[in-house]
Amino acid sequence: MSDFDFIVIGAGSGGLASARRAASYGAKVAVVESGRIGGTCVNRGCVPKKVMWYAAGIMEEIRDAAGYGVRVSEPQLDWSLLRQGRDAYVERLNGIYAGNVTRENITYLEGEASISDPDRVRVAESDYTCRHLLIATGSEPTVPDIQGSELGITSDGFFELDSMPERVAIVGAGYIAVELAGLLNSLGSDVTLILRKTQLLRRFDPILRDTLMEEMTAAGINVVSSSEPARVTKNLQGSLELTAINGEGQTGFDQLIWATGRSPRVAKLGLERIGVRQDKHGNIIVDEFQNASVPGIYAVGDVTGRYPLTPVAIAAGRHLADRLFGGKTDARLDYEFVPTVVFSHPPLGTVGLTEDEACDRYGHDSVKVYTTRFRNMYHALTERKTATAMKLVTLRPDERIVGLHVIGHGADEMLQGFSVAVRMGATKADFDRTIAIHPTAAEEFVTMR
Ligand code: FAD
Ligand code: NDP
Repeated sequence: MSDFDFIVIGAGSGGLASARRAASYGAKVAVVESGRIGGTCVNRGCVPKKVMWYAAGIMEEIRDAAGYGVRVSEPQLDWSLLRQGRDAYVERLNGIYAGNVTRENITYLEGEASISDPDRVRVAESDYTCRHLLIATGSEPTVPDIQGSELGITSDGFFELDSMPERVAIVGAGYIAVELAGLLNSLGSDVTLILRKTQLLRRFDPILRDTLMEEMTAAGINVVSSSEPARVTKNLQGSLELTAINGEGQTGFDQLIWATGRSPRVAKLGLERIGVRQDKHGNIIVDEFQNASVPGIYAVGDVTGRYPLTPVAIAAGRHLADRLFGGKTDARLDYEFVPTVVFSHPPLGTVGLTEDEACDRYGHDSVKVYTTRFRNMYHALTERKTATAMKLVTLRPDERIVGLHVIGHGADEMLQGFSVAVRMGATKADFDRTIAIHPTAAEEFVTMR
């Protein structure tokens, strides 16, 4: 007899979702967690980030108010009050998550887990056995291995800051780099964004990344391209200097944030001991049913390196529990058409293929693209203007929509509904038949020619 039917390592998005679904089928479940319940998303990711993004948006709207005849003075940010409110909100969520675990009779084991055998987990010097073992240990920030890199912080450190950085350098061109650069700029920091290549969000459709680059530059962010850091130093006045591989320097920063990617958190699990296969980045290799290479061991979420997003981790975890304990033997997550939003300023969203991906997959002649660019009516009276741009990537002859991309005011809330339509196989004619909602920005998606 095993101690548990299911042991889950990691009480983050994927682990908790899977554990709760398994418990709902009557399985005897334990979750092991070495940090705070909720994992990255709740404590150091989506949730505190979105709070900061809202704060930044409020600052922008207050500055826009004058155009609408609303007289307000220049907004002042009280960073410590914002941090207090944000941290209290996160703590409330921690409490709700802990309450769910207790109510659903899930055993919560605090400590760092390691795997001694495929059916045996060690936590705080005790061993626990199980029939099924899920690894949902997430990921952690990667910092370049260069001289002085310890002088910078990562997104984890960003959420610990007691005050707003006055002059901040952010290195990276991905989700976290553009999100932190945008919100810090709107909150009032002087932001330099340092790219090792020339593009932001390299894997996104050009309409999004090019428009975002223009918008970030217009908003006053100093974007430095082709500048891969080689070393970081601190001068006598305490300010940070970055020197790039090409010898160029950027200086005068009171804070440096590395946003240079994340790696799977597997170091302490002992995967080599039991033969769980990993790819060259350390991600746990799983098949379409989330099975790892050792029978009885599974992995979901960031630790697999596939679409490192909270809803993906949750969905994969739930499908796995449905399959193992709910009798749904074929349950698995379909990783096609995963929608995603970057909370940049302005926000952007994407689902499906970029234009280049569609051309590579189906041939140039099969792809027909619709684009539009305009100013959201919100900016009719504001001094500050931001662009909205949209693209539909369709496949001939029936013009099935295989990619939908949008950047602009409200893009974040626009995408979810459209992603349902795209997933269902909507065609351009279906969009054309849909009555527009006026006046909105989203209506442009159903009126494109
Ligand atoms: P996690 O949520 O990271 O959970 C893993 C848990 O395992 C952690 O709590 C960790 O402490 C624990 N753990 C690790 N090793 C062990 C061990 N050996 N023993 C015990 N416990 C262990 N995604 C979105 O969808 N939308 C967003 O807006 C968004 N914003 C983000 C912003 C930032 C700054 C970051 C960093 C990420 C963001 N993400 C966002 C990504 C999202 O947070 C992750 O995709 C998601 O948290 C992954 O869930 P997970 O279950 O795989 O791992
Ligand atoms: P990303 O993979 O998005 O980006 C990593 C960036 O690091 C790339 O732009 C890369 O540049 C850059 N980089 C890597 N090494 C170096 C180096 N040595 N010097 C300079 N730049 C370097 O990772 P993030 O850490 O930003 O985010 C991790 C994941 O978390 C995302 O993929 C996303 O899935 C998730 N996330 C989701 C959010 C959301 O849903 N809104 C928000 C935040 C995170 P280059 O492009 O030039 O190679």
